[in-house]
Amino acid sequence: MFHSARLKLTGWYLLIIMVISLSFSAVIYRMLTVEVDRLLLRQNIRLQQQFDARDLYPSELRNGPFALPLIDPELVEEMKARLIGNLAIINGLILFGAGGLSFVLAGKALRPIKVMIDEQNRFIADASHELRTPITALKTTLEVSLRDDYLSLTEARETLKANLADVNRLHSLSNGLLELAQYQRRPQRNQQESAALTPAIKAAIKVVLPLAHAKKITINLNPFDDANVAITTKQLTDILISLLDNAIKYSLPKTAITVQTSQKDSHVHIKITDQGIGIAATDLPHIFDRFYQVESSRSSEERNGYGLGLAIAKQTAEQHQGSITVTSTVGHGTSFTLNLRKF
Ligand code: ADP
Repeated sequence: MFHSARLKLTGWYLLIIMVISLSFSAVIYRMLTVEVDRLLLRQNIRLQQQFDARDLYPSELRNGPFALPLIDPELVEEMKARLIGNLAIINGLILFGAGGLSFVLAGKALRPIKVMIDEQNRFIADASHELRTPITALKTTLEVSLRDDYLSLTEARETLKANLADVNRLHSLSNGLLELAQYQRRPQRNQQESAALTPAIKAAIKVVLPLAHAKKITINLNPFDDANVAITTKQLTDILISLLDNAIKYSLPKTAITVQTSQKDSHVHIKITDQGIGIAATDLPHIFDRFYQVESSRSSEERNGYGLGLAIAKQTAEQHQGSITVTSTVGHGTSFTLNLRKF
């Protein structure tokens, strides 16, 4: 599809260039021939006047049946034919040169569209792949239960519980997909958006605290100077919840998570450090990719994510000219740093 679109665009470019080039050639030919005809006419008149003055070429010879023209019209026709030949060669060269150039330019013009289409196709393939698992699980458990004529109330409850878990997973997946799609549709941010650090960090910690308590994990917030950062409070809180949620999810019980903030020049850095399982160096470059999950977390019992959290967090930060960086040591822990511009 890309190739045929490229050829079509090349054709259009070439058509435009050739229409311009041929029109110019026609105009140049017309102007030159008119100019040459006018020049010859004047030259003819001048010669005739000179001959008449000196009586070199009697007019009876000039006008008789065997009259010789002063200027050979064949030469003029030959000159015009050569002009046409030269213009044809120039147009031929333009056709070849412009053809190659148009092909290269069409490729360049279509490349971002190709990247976008490839990206969209990958997105659809990934999303359908992720959707298939809970839908298949739902379908299977429902079909098995319906086929069982002696299904007890307890068994029915168990089935419904399993169904609810699948529905919850589908719900969180569709929310994540919608969020991603939203950012892709609205890449421009409002210049006036700002958030105060303290309430956002405290709100995020409050949301994840029950999860931390369940694993007896402590969250330490180091003291910091408040500042305003260029992002909305909701977005800042969401990113922090995502990072803290991961820190808890991928930490062993009874460990600690630290939240540190620092300010340098025009930026604020919020660093979340855990003492969890860590991320292997081979996985680190990919963890911000959509749907990417480290194999161990993909197969983990505790798994309730889809590898969308970090992709959304990174996209949100970048939308505000911020970034997220990560360092990790397997078996020791991971540090995610959210870097945002001061408002
Ligand atoms: P998920 O919903 O699977 O957690 P994320 O996009 O939030 O998806 O994270 C992508 C992957 O990065 C996870 O599958 C996990 O393997 C890894 N990861 C993220 N945060 C941490 C962390 N703090 N410690 C260890 N691994 C992490």
